[in-house]
Amino acid sequence: MADKRDYYEVLGVSKTASDDEIKKAFRTLAKKYHPDMHPGDKECEEKFKEAQEAYAVLSDAEKRKQYDQFGHAAFDGTGGGAGGFDFSGMDMGDIFGDIFGDFFGGGSRRRTNDGPMKGSNLRTSVRITFEEAIFGCEKEIEMVLKDECHTCHGTGAKPGTTPETCPKCGGKGKVVFTQQSFFGTVQNVQTCPDCGGSGKIIKDKCPDCRGTGYIASKKKIQVSIPAGIDNGQSVRIREKGEPGINGGPRGDLLVEVVVSRHPTLQRQDMNIYSTAQISFAQAALGGEIRIHTVDGDVLYEVKPGTQTNTRIRLKGKGVPSLRNKSVRGDHYVDLVVQTPTGLSADAKEALRQFDALTGDSLNRTGAQDGAGSSDKQEKPKKKKGFMDKIKESLDDI
Ligand SMILES: [Zn+2]
Ligand SMILES: [Zn+2]
Repeated sequence: MADKRDYYEVLGVSKTASDDEIKKAFRTLAKKYHPDMHPGDKECEEKFKEAQEAYAVLSDAEKRKQYDQFGHAAFDGTGGGAGGFDFSGMDMGDIFGDIFGDFFGGGSRRRTNDGPMKGSNLRTSVRITFEEAIFGCEKEIEMVLKDECHTCHGTGAKPGTTPETCPKCGGKGKVVFTQQSFFGTVQNVQTCPDCGGSGKIIKDKCPDCRGTGYIASKKKIQVSIPAGIDNGQSVRIREKGEPGINGGPRGDLLVEVVVSRHPTLQRQDMNIYSTAQISFAQAALGGEIRIHTVDGDVLYEVKPGTQTNTRIRLKGKGVPSLRNKSVRGDHYVDLVVQTPTGLSADAKEALRQFDALTGDSLNRTGAQDGAGSSDKQEKPKKKKGFMDKIKESLDDI
């Protein structure tokens, strides 16, 4: 207890952190160190407990106030004798329920109840391409899953022996003790230290599972990823999580989908966005361009007189709805006009002629900002004539 780290430091937040920041920080740490993810890893377990304890205090307005005022002493017995506030006995079920929702199967870590309980959920992730997210795909992943030990049928006791009811807690898994603290008499419920909350003591451990009741092995699991899934969404695979308790069903496996970035296409919800470059001549005269979509290349007729950054819509070329594959979003394309570079002498001359015919901007000194209004009115007529000429010459080619 002497070297206890500061709770804010444990969660990596500032002293002025909001409730949301605290929750977020804990969520991140809990995911990282959750014992379900690192069975048997003592260091992770300690880190998880440390974070759990810090969160229990800092997420509770009253406790946080006490902690801010008195530090760790707020929760230590003043006599310095007995251990102090024991957070490991706190019922974290509602905190997990609150933060993780389904992810860890609520209070499934409480094993004091004798009735059948669903096992904890497991989480993993799988990386897929942009197109795989649009159209859906099948993936095979490998997971280490626990199964009930065949030798002891999950009791953890050596065959021929049975686990005994824990004498310390009478099988309840919890012990209640009363304590004098800084703030008066406090009644604490603690996980039974003798049986670790199981309510049972195994004297002769099963040799195959070393008393855990479970055997872990690598399993291949097929994941059907539906069309339209987005980065960060999860696919639930029923009953591929931790084994149930006392005959309860297995927990679920939640596979988070990580979608790789596409070099040219971006996605937002059900729509796809990209840009297409068009030449100055295509913008002015119109013409067919090729646009890359998730359905392959499509030909699009650019309208004459298209300005740069004109957004066009390719209807139904977007992302399918997760609920109904046949309903699809759209693909929006920004048409970007390219200024010609590396022009030949002839091309430059043609451009100069073009300019002379369309307002003569090259010879208007200081006209950038304030071209006369009479000038502007002339432009369209001239422009139109010139366009027709170009069109004719293009038709000849
Ligand atoms: Zn066993
Ligand atoms: Zn006990």
